[in-house]
Order: sequence, then structure tokens, then C-alpha cells
Amino acid sequence: MSRPSLPTSIRRRSDYPEGTNLCDHCTAKCCHYFALQIDEPVNRRDFDYIRWYLLHEHATVFVEDQSWYLLVHTTCKHLQSDYRCGIYETRPQICREYTTDDCEFEDDWCYEKYFETPEQLDEYADALFGRQFVDPNVSERQSLRSQRPTSLPIASFGL
Ligand code: SF4
Ligand code: SF4
Repeated sequence: MSRPSLPTSIRRRSDYPEGTNLCDHCTAKCCHYFALQIDEPVNRRDFDYIRWYLLHEHATVFVEDQSWYLLVHTTCKHLQSDYRCGIYETRPQICREYTTDDCEFEDDWCYEKYFETPEQLDEYADALFGRQFVDPNVSERQSLRSQRPTSLPIASFGL
């Protein structure tokens, strides 16, 4: 069975008749990631852990309802080329409980906060705690770090 051709950016639930199984018209977006709630970072060390997450490919972090989540964009090994589950009868409980009621079908999700790169997180943490690292593009003279003391002139007594 072929999949629908409606561009995902404009399609709405309301485009489909009531009772339609939206999963039949979706590229199984919910099978292309997993998300885990993480502790809210409250200090530099916490932010540094999250920075470590973001140093990995496909890892992002979002905040929703003041809860923080690690979101990893990766495809389930059992998703088939027709976007159906290859282990439907034994799929995990979390997959069974997920419904189309509030899923990402419409592609218009917006998070309170979303960090895709370590630099974005650094910028956010710097705003909270002040700059963590010296900008490598700023010369030592311009940086906040103490400048290297200049040498005292060598005295010469004409000996
Ligand atoms: S639950 Fe939503 S995101 Fe997942 S396959 Fe169905 S319509 Fe797509
Ligand atoms: S087990 Fe099946 S339903 Fe669950 S994420 Fe994988 S393909 Fe999707």
C-alpha cells in the first residue's frame, strides 16, 4: 500500500475524515527518536553533563512544562520500509500506549527550549552563570584572564 503524498508541513488532522487511522498516513515519526527525562540542570556541572550529551551526533535536549528531556534522533531497528512495525505483536509497552491523540503527526511541535548544539547550551549557561571558557578568538590581552606580567627591565650598571 502506498503512503500519502500530502506535504507534512501543511497537513492537519482535520484534513482527514473522522475515524481515519492517522498512522496509515504518517512516516512513523514516533519511531524515529526516543526521549528520556533528565534532571533539570542547576549548576555548571549539570550543564556540563548536558553539554556532553550534545557532543554526540543526533542528541538534542528540550524543555517542556519545565521538565528537561534528552531527545535522540535515531530510527528503531524494527521499523520497516513501509513504516510499519516489524515486531507489532511484541512491541514495547511504551509503543502500545502511544496514541495519535497528541502525537507529532502535524509536525508543528514547538518546545519551550530546544538545544541542538553544545554551543547553544553554552550560550544559555553563560547567560546564567557567566562565561565558562575564554573565547579562542579573543586574544589573551583582551580576555578576562589575568594578563601575563611584563618582565622587569634588566638593570645595567655598566660593568
Ligand atoms: S502515532 Fe502519530 S507519529 Fe506515530 S505513526 Fe501514528 S500518526 Fe505517526
Ligand atoms: S518497536 Fe515498533 S512501534 Fe515501537 S518504535 Fe520500533 S517500530 Fe515503532
